[in-house]
Amino acid sequence: MGEEFPFDINPMYEGERIRKKGMYVELGGPDQPGFELVRAASMDEVEDGRFTMIGPDILDLKEGSQNTYAMMFRMAGELVETDLESVVERRMHDFQNYIQGYMHLNQRYDIWVRVSKDAVKKGLKSFEQIAKATIRLYKAELPFIEKMEATFITDPDEVKKQLDGAMEIFAQRDARTRDLHDEDVDLFYGCTLCQSFAPTNVCVVTPDRVSLCGAINWFDGRAAANVDPEGPNFAIEKGECIDEIGGEYTGVNEKTVELSGGEYDRIQLHSFFDAPHTSCGCFEVIGFYMPEVDGIGWVDRDYTEPSPNGLAFSTMAGNTGGGKQSIGFLGIGVEYFRSPKFIQKDGGWNRVVWMPSRLKERVKDGIPADISDKISTENDTKTIDELKEFLKAKDHPVVKNWIEEVEEAEEEAAAVSTAGGMGMPMQMQQFAPGQIMMPAMGGGSGGGIKIILKNAKITISEVKFEEAEGSKKKGK
Ligand code: ZN
Repeated sequence: MGEEFPFDINPMYEGERIRKKGMYVELGGPDQPGFELVRAASMDEVEDGRFTMIGPDILDLKEGSQNTYAMMFRMAGELVETDLESVVERRMHDFQNYIQGYMHLNQRYDIWVRVSKDAVKKGLKSFEQIAKATIRLYKAELPFIEKMEATFITDPDEVKKQLDGAMEIFAQRDARTRDLHDEDVDLFYGCTLCQSFAPTNVCVVTPDRVSLCGAINWFDGRAAANVDPEGPNFAIEKGECIDEIGGEYTGVNEKTVELSGGEYDRIQLHSFFDAPHTSCGCFEVIGFYMPEVDGIGWVDRDYTEPSPNGLAFSTMAGNTGGGKQSIGFLGIGVEYFRSPKFIQKDGGWNRVVWMPSRLKERVKDGIPADISDKISTENDTKTIDELKEFLKAKDHPVVKNWIEEVEEAEEEAAAVSTAGGMGMPMQMQQFAPGQIMMPAMGGGSGGGIKIILKNAKITISEVKFEEAEGSKKKGK
């Protein structure tokens, strides 16, 4: 297979990382717009293997530069339908990572690509070689694709123009499931695409819960499972509903045992604390519990500043991902914010206290009007203390929980000090060490608090690790 390409093509390169000093060029990523898009077309519209380049090709780009990037593919075949676009597009990440010297991260409008100096040295000189290798992999792995052609763009104006159109297509795809709900269907869909790096990950896609990469909704899962039932997307019999609010089903639990290799046996689709969905690593957004305010903050990949808990997305990604059920952190796709079941087990939007302003703006149509102003952004607050003041001033629903807990703590303190007969020393003992104070201010669940404390330790090692890596963003 590799004969006519100057690079190897092999799944073993999937984990290959290209560091800044080994990179020839960067495409998309945190600093430049980039996207990938696959569209279905009719057989006579697509010329198999055709490649079009708009803008400078690899060797015409300045070494070490960061560039805008678009990869647009069109596919055709007797079985090809529009519903398959998302799942085919989602495979780009796998297939392009098989290419030695080419690193592909994320999906849709978040893609981040690096081409290595070594690859260029060995003879990679044109995006045409990348496109042709990608098309060959697609046709080999997904035989329903009979014809495929590609247009790659590096011209900044053209990328921006085409990105607008792509965003509309992504939005239309996302909107499709909004009138369909978990209770309306008998089948959910599973996805094992992320198990290559998150072996215990159990991805369950339902009408009310998009995949956490944001790229696969229930219709996409169905289309993929129909055309290739043995493939990475497959049907999950829903079974009996055990918990309507949490979204727990016997069929999903059975599949959870199987897919996680016995690591987990329950998943509540709409819960943050109780057997939450596993998080792979490609999540678009991370939810993080802040015990000091008993509320949940959300941060997306594009927001690189620290959140009020002092941690940035990239740091929290390490605590969240890997296919684990991490209580206190949860990875989600952006569209899940618009789900009527959005973390409803834990209060839904009434538990949300902070998110970056751009993300809030993006999902504002999904935020209930009565809570929207009470959710803080980086423009209002940057620390936990500021956040506390903000929530108090806005009378956010979580504030009620604090009062009850403070009262409880005071009652406890009073009871103890009465028994001990020395009021002041008890007070001091209770509030002097920070770690003792946390449980008093914490949320309802004791388990959550313990884990937050543990994370405070993990964080320190994570920061060092980030610096050593020299990379701003993580995740696939
Ligand atoms: Zn994933």
